[in-house]
Amino acid sequence: MDYRDNILSNLKAGWKTELEQSYSIQEASQLLNRLIQHFVGISRVDQSLHPGYRLSESELIRLNNAVKRLLNEEPLQYITGVTDFYGLNLRVNPSVLIPRPETEELVDLILHEKNKKQINILDIGTGSGCIALALKKNLPESKVVAIDISKAALSLAQSNAIENHLNVQFYPCDILNYSDCPPLHENFDIIVSNPPYVTQTDKKLMKKNVLGFEPHLALFVDDHDPLLFYRHIADFARLRLKKQGKLYVEINENYGAETVRLFGYHGLTKISMHTDIEGKNRFISAVKEDI
Ligand code: GLN
Repeated sequence: MDYRDNILSNLKAGWKTELEQSYSIQEASQLLNRLIQHFVGISRVDQSLHPGYRLSESELIRLNNAVKRLLNEEPLQYITGVTDFYGLNLRVNPSVLIPRPETEELVDLILHEKNKKQINILDIGTGSGCIALALKKNLPESKVVAIDISKAALSLAQSNAIENHLNVQFYPCDILNYSDCPPLHENFDIIVSNPPYVTQTDKKLMKKNVLGFEPHLALFVDDHDPLLFYRHIADFARLRLKKQGKLYVEINENYGAETVRLFGYHGLTKISMHTDIEGKNRFISAVKEDI
C-alpha cells in the first residue's frame, strides 16, 4: 500500500480494496467511513469536501491497525469500543455482548406498555448495562437495579451509567444462586432479562465475528439444558415480582413453545409471545397475578 503523503482519499481506496476481500462493497465502504469518523473525527461528507486531507502519523497507524482487525473479522464495535443502543452511546469491550437491535425491540416493548412512573425494575445479566440504562433513561422516576455474574461487565456497565448520567445500581449476583444476593431480596414491578440462550448446536452455525470475539459466558447454554436460565428466572420472578408485576425475556427462537410452557409451570400468567422485526419468536412477557 502506498502511504506517501498520507492523503486520506488515496489510503481509503487501498483499504477499501483490502476490506472487499472479506466484506461486500457496500459494507466495506460503510465500515471504513465509520472507522474514519471514529479515529479521525471526519464524516463521509467532510471527506468528500476535503479530498486532499492528510492523516497524521498516529491517525494512519490507528486506521491501519483497525483495518487489520476488521480483516480478522473482529466486530467494528470492539475496535472502536463504542456502540449506540436506544439513543444511548455505550462503551463495549469483549467482556460484554455487543447490544443487538433485537434487544432494542425488547426495551421498546416494555416502554410501550403503560407503566406506572415510580416502579422497581430489575435487569438480570445486564452486560454493558444496555437494557437497564435505556429503561432508566426513559422511565427516569423508576428505580433500576441490574445484576451480572461478570465483574468486568459490571465495571463497564457502571462507567456507561456515569457517562450517560443515569443512576442504575449494579450488583455482582448470580441468578442461579440468588438467595446469596441481598439486592435480590426486594420485590420488583418489572423483571427483564436477555440471558445466555445459544445452544451448542446453534454455535456450529455462528460466524467468527461472534464466536471468536464475544463472551461465551453471555452467549452459550448446554444443549441438555437450554432453558437453564429461564427456569431460574421464572422461579425468581414468581418469588419477587409484585402482584401484577411483569417479566420480559429475550429468547432463542427455537425454544418459544417450551419457554412459554415453562413459565406456565412456574405459575406465571398472561404469557405472551412477541416476534422481532424479522418475524421470529424473540420475546416473552408474563404476569404474576397472585400475591
Ligand atoms: N442474540 C444473540 C446472538 O445471536 C444472543 C444473545 C443471547 O445469548 N442472549 O448472538
